[in-house]
Amino acid sequence: MRRAKHNPKLFQAFLDPLVERYHRPSYLDSDPLGIAHEWKNPRDQEVVAIFSALLAYGNAKLIRRTLRELFDRFQGTTDTPENLIERYGKDPEGTRIFLESSWRGIFYRFNSSQDFILLFELIARSTLKYGSVGEHFLQSYDPGTPGSLVSSWANFMEEWKRDATCLKRPGLKGFSYFLTSPADGSACKRWVMLLRWMGRRDEIDLGLWMEGSPLIRQVRPLESSDLFMPLDTHTGRITQYIGALNRKQFNWKSVIEVTEFFKNLRCDDPILYDFAISRLGILELCQKRYRVEICQACSLLPVCQFAKRHSPKNSDSPRSHSTP
Ligand code: SF4
Repeated sequence: MRRAKHNPKLFQAFLDPLVERYHRPSYLDSDPLGIAHEWKNPRDQEVVAIFSALLAYGNAKLIRRTLRELFDRFQGTTDTPENLIERYGKDPEGTRIFLESSWRGIFYRFNSSQDFILLFELIARSTLKYGSVGEHFLQSYDPGTPGSLVSSWANFMEEWKRDATCLKRPGLKGFSYFLTSPADGSACKRWVMLLRWMGRRDEIDLGLWMEGSPLIRQVRPLESSDLFMPLDTHTGRITQYIGALNRKQFNWKSVIEVTEFFKNLRCDDPILYDFAISRLGILELCQKRYRVEICQACSLLPVCQFAKRHSPKNSDSPRSHSTP
């Protein structure tokens, strides 16, 4: 697909109505992030958000159901994620046995309850050693310095891999699926999305690793301008449709390409558009084919190369700019 020449302001004119329509808390119930919003304490939110992001592969309803199975039982009890981390610091084995009994039989696709317990242990160990997972993740991050977030992420991931090897119990084949970084060359959608949740702050994103968060005290806070665009099947194809992504595969090079596109639109907050664009896919509002009743009402139509190619008329007739 050949990238269309674009004027950033023109794209903003078509993307901003999408944000206006879908970047709203009422759509959090279609997203794993909504589960983290149900917890009010930032320390609980950090734990639940990490689980929510790392389980975010596959069907959003099933992901949310699994997260509820994992965490709803602790709501309104003293066994909050924060308290369980403290308990783990005093009694790792006892806490692990408690979680085995609490989470027995819960699984999601490649991941079993044993994977969830090991993930909790890594979160707890980071928190007990550094103060929060964010403090651990951002150890060598220098805001605005190209590459520093990725290298800090790679260091963090190597340490988690080493820690997981020390703690690993037999039979946890699915666990490695949680541990990805750009060093693998993959799009790392789940961690990139977690960074968006932690590095933006509004009614949607939590901003837990940003300036002013109680979780970030010793390291430089994460800045929105340094985030990357999460690429999955939804955001990948729609950004291809509008010419923001030229590559066919969704890998780390594609993440860089599409992030650069959005930086040209908003250099201080390039990932603002992610939640709204992904609603088009998650809610099946954009259906991988030209549907006249949907596409003619989509604010992206004037810049959608896919719709132009697949429109039966392939016409230049005036189009509505309201969102589907
Ligand atoms: S115009 Fe149609 S195909 Fe293009 S993004 Fe909108 S809904 Fe999807």
